[in-house]
Amino acid sequence: MSNNFVDYHCHLDLYPDHAAAIAECEREGIHTLTVTTTPKAWPRNHDLATKTSYVRAALGLHPQLVAERAEELQLWETYLSQARYVGEVGLDAGPRFYRSIELQKQIFGRILILCARAGGKILTVHSVRAATPVLDMIEKHLPPTRGRVVLHWFTGSRAEARRAIDLGCYFSINAEMLRKERHRDLVKSLPLDRILTETDGPFCQHKGRPVRPVDVSVVVDLLAQAMSREPTAVSKAVHSNLRRIESFN
Ligand code: MN
Repeated sequence: MSNNFVDYHCHLDLYPDHAAAIAECEREGIHTLTVTTTPKAWPRNHDLATKTSYVRAALGLHPQLVAERAEELQLWETYLSQARYVGEVGLDAGPRFYRSIELQKQIFGRILILCARAGGKILTVHSVRAATPVLDMIEKHLPPTRGRVVLHWFTGSRAEARRAIDLGCYFSINAEMLRKERHRDLVKSLPLDRILTETDGPFCQHKGRPVRPVDVSVVVDLLAQAMSREPTAVSKAVHSNLRRIESFN
C-alpha cells in the first residue's frame, strides 16, 4: 500500500472509456475517489466501483449544473443512503455561475443537512470564488462529528484556509494549483496532516492530454518541492491522512 498513490477527486465517468479508466486505477493501485456531477450517473458509477479494490464513487450534484438540474436534488436524496462519499457538491460564484448562487446555496445547504443527519459521510467540495460562504455553511450545518469535508481545488485566502482547518477540513491538491505561485504559497502554508492529492481529471491537462489518476505522482513531486520535503514523506503523509479520513464514521 505504501507505494500507492491517491487521487481523491477525479471524474472517471467523463473519460471516453469509463471502464478502462477504472481498470487502469485498479491495475496501478491508485486509490481513486471518482465524483459524479449528477445523481443520474450514480447507479452506474456505484455499480462499477463496488467491484473494485481501489475505486470509490461519490454521489454528486455539481454547483455548475444546479441552474438546470436543481430538481435532481430529489434523486440525490433517494440515493444518499447508498453512498459513503458525496461529491461533487459545493458552490461556484465564478462569472459563469454566480447568477445561480442563491439556488446553489439552497441545494448545498440541504445536502449538508442531510449528510449531517445521516452521519459518516465524506464530502468532496467545490468552492470557486465562494470559500467564505462554503465555510459558513459547513460551520452551520455539518459539524466535524457528523461528516468529513475535503475541499477540492481550494483557492481561498490564508485566513479562509486557517478557518477551514479549524473546522476540520482537508484539502485535495492538484498540479494546476502548484503551478501558480499564489496558490502554491497557500498550499505551502497548509499542514501536511490535512493534505490529499487529486487530478480533477479529465478537466486538467498533463503533457497535452487529459490528466489521468496515474499522473497523480506529479502532484506528489510538486508538493514535495513546494514544501521542501522528500516525495516519500509527502506520499506517506497523504496515505496516513487517507486512512484517518476513511476510518471516520
Ligand atoms: Mn471536479
